[in-house]
Amino acid sequence: MIQENLLNIKASVPEHVTVVAVSKTKPADAILEAHQSGHLDFGENKVQELCQKAETLPKDIRWHMIGHLQRNKVKYIAPFVHLIHGVDSERLLVEINKQAAKNNRIIDVLLQLHIAEETTKFGFSYEEAEALLAHKNTLENIRIVGVMGMATFSENTAQVKAEFDGLYTFFEKWKKPLQWTTLSMGMSNDYPVAIASGSTMIRVGSLIFGKRN
Ligand SMILES: *Cc1c(COP(=O)(O)O)cnc(C)c1O
Repeated sequence: MIQENLLNIKASVPEHVTVVAVSKTKPADAILEAHQSGHLDFGENKVQELCQKAETLPKDIRWHMIGHLQRNKVKYIAPFVHLIHGVDSERLLVEINKQAAKNNRIIDVLLQLHIAEETTKFGFSYEEAEALLAHKNTLENIRIVGVMGMATFSENTAQVKAEFDGLYTFFEKWKKPLQWTTLSMGMSNDYPVAIASGSTMIRVGSLIFGKRN
């Protein structure tokens, strides 16, 4: 079922949209099954779980850190992480840069924007992100490649669409000058809306792997 779910979703989205299969809480077997279909992008939201899975699972997997990341845990994922989606402070950026340098790497990151109504979701405001991007990036071991956002968890499609449209506008503004490639928005319940608003990367868990406990 996992392969079928994944292939159906991939077939239904435009080719330029990357699907990150969100495997948090799911066992290694489930990830392997998805991987056997040729899928390589997987997302986790906890550092410890991410590291344990990365250690045992195939080395060609591109691991996406999609959850809130604490500065003191960056060092554990810095050697191998493919993309960090949830950068929500300048101090975190500085720490990622430091750990990337230690590993002789350049780590790709996305700035997380707070676009939802809920105050529990992390991220910069548009004003904060503007301020950060306005001064030249002197952090040589990170590359900000775009932005990520989570819409309000709501049935109100108009509201969700407005939030995604806002993030798209912000992405478009900076895309050319900063050579951005990635607009990460959309999950199981709202990815079609996100894609209609210009998403280039969706993070889908339960529709692929089934409901989480
Ligand atoms: C869990 C999670 C997802 C996937 O959620 P589903 O509703 O299962 O698709 C996407 N993005 C983030 C940041 C998550 O934490």
